[in-house]
Amino acid sequence: MQIILVSSRFSLAKSVDVNMRHIVAALGVFLLAVLCGSSALSWLAVHLRLPMVQAQIEAMQTREMQDKEAKAKSNLQALAARVGELQARMVQLDGLGQHLSSRTGLEPPARGPENANEGGPFVPMPLDEKKLTEEIDALSQRIETQAERFNNMESLLRAAMVRRAFLPTTMPVAGPSRLGSPFGIRNDPFGRGMALHEGLDFVAPYGAPVLAAAGGVVVNASYHHEFGNLVEINHGGELITRYAHMSAIKVTVGMTVRRGQQVGELGSTGRSTGPHLHFEVRKNGSPLNPSDFLASSSLARR
Ligand SMILES: [Zn+2]
Repeated sequence: MQIILVSSRFSLAKSVDVNMRHIVAALGVFLLAVLCGSSALSWLAVHLRLPMVQAQIEAMQTREMQDKEAKAKSNLQALAARVGELQARMVQLDGLGQHLSSRTGLEPPARGPENANEGGPFVPMPLDEKKLTEEIDALSQRIETQAERFNNMESLLRAAMVRRAFLPTTMPVAGPSRLGSPFGIRNDPFGRGMALHEGLDFVAPYGAPVLAAAGGVVVNASYHHEFGNLVEINHGGELITRYAHMSAIKVTVGMTVRRGQQVGELGSTGRSTGPHLHFEVRKNGSPLNPSDFLASSSLARR
């Protein structure tokens, strides 16, 4: 191959002969230069470790580590705060349990290991994941126990409510009335000396509605030579109420009545000196003072 060089410096064009050996030699020199250059750079990178790059990497690693630590600490702090809130809530629940049990007379819920009456300065707990986990476990256990106690209490309350629903606590006379004879020993109104009055007498206008003092089943609705027109209602648990001297009976035996339902009209039938309702509460055949049941109604307080 012949290369012709033309330049302004040359007055004549120069020609250079380039043969195969020249090309091979030039390629060889080029490859050698590339090899030497890359080897030198590798050696610099590996053995000198380029101090600036190394410092940057270390700084990055340190920052990353600090970020991780800060995040973990903030998570622990949040967890500790939440545990504190839960503990405070548990103390409130303990208080509620005590209040409920004192109001209902039911079994008090179990107290937590710590007393609710406590105080002292606040010393932050050292943030320790293990301790926090233990606290959470203890709290969970306490919550389970409390929940169980509250469930038991709810069942007892429901049972008490059902019992109460069938207690004769509703005033048996509708409209205005006054208490005639109280429960207990009194002079017989027919002049036969001292006698036991087994109920309450409510004086009200003739024909005033007589009401069931609680829900139940009518077990007697008939005329009695002493009680006159008499209705008896069974409220379960051997508890019976009696409504006597009525002018009319509005129910029949076997009928289910609800609280406050009319069972008859006030009158003066049987052994009576004037219009009034003789009202009895009996348990297992024995008379009880109806005032004890009607305590929440208006007339019983008169
Ligand atoms: Zn009476």
